[in-house]
Amino acid sequence: MGVDFFAGIIIFVFGAVIGSFLNVVILRLNTGQSTISGRSKCFTCAKKLKWHELLPIISFVLLKGKCSACKTKISWQYPLVETITGIIFVLLFQQSQISNLKSQNFFDFGFLVLIFSILIIIAIYDYHHQIIPNFFVWIFNGLAFLWLFNFGNLSAIWRIENFNMDGFLAGFILFAFFALLWGVSKGRWMGFGDVKLALGIGWLLGMAKGAAAITLAFWIGAIIGVLLIYLSKNKYGMKSSIAFGPFMVLGTMISFFWGEKIISFLF
Ligand SMILES: [Zn+2]
Repeated sequence: MGVDFFAGIIIFVFGAVIGSFLNVVILRLNTGQSTISGRSKCFTCAKKLKWHELLPIISFVLLKGKCSACKTKISWQYPLVETITGIIFVLLFQQSQISNLKSQNFFDFGFLVLIFSILIIIAIYDYHHQIIPNFFVWIFNGLAFLWLFNFGNLSAIWRIENFNMDGFLAGFILFAFFALLWGVSKGRWMGFGDVKLALGIGWLLGMAKGAAAITLAFWIGAIIGVLLIYLSKNKYGMKSSIAFGPFMVLGTMISFFWGEKIISFLF
């Protein structure tokens, strides 16, 4: 408790607000609507939302998950993405050791916040549409590439001499692995978006943590897949597919924060 606890609360609220914005981006992506302009409104009755109906997490609770005018249910996605984004920002804040108050750490935190926000967009969008938006996967890959210039490490200095060649190669190894699976299965096991995403995951995490992330993705994906088939026999048959991108993102995030522990447990 103390300064760090107070700072953690502020970072969580900041994350929840960004999460609320990410929801809007995900929702309006490829619909032709502007993500910046245009007030939020109910999709059923078009009621414009008041300021107190736009607060992350809190509004959902106060409205009991329903539109105040037409009582249409509001998707759980909103408070869920807001909460997850808040938690991720707090974890990034802890890892960046901003309490040291070095400008380097602020820069690392801002950079990682951007990378993880894009990963959240990719995961939720893929979950809904079973496709990874090209624009966001290449932004992610670009940022992950830049991350190699601080040796893929927090608190290292960003310069050319620190370029993480092993991490750079790890991206191509993971890319090749996924391209092989994609080719062998003729695109039935995963989409090419997942192949592209693997490149940035390797660049962000390096070989050991990257392999851990992919292993986790396959395990979690398999467990969820079996559960879905078991729990709802009619809805998810053996033939129906679920997007793999969300599991890759989940594996990446878990490996980023707890990679060392997972590697010592797995290998
Ligand atoms: Zn409504």
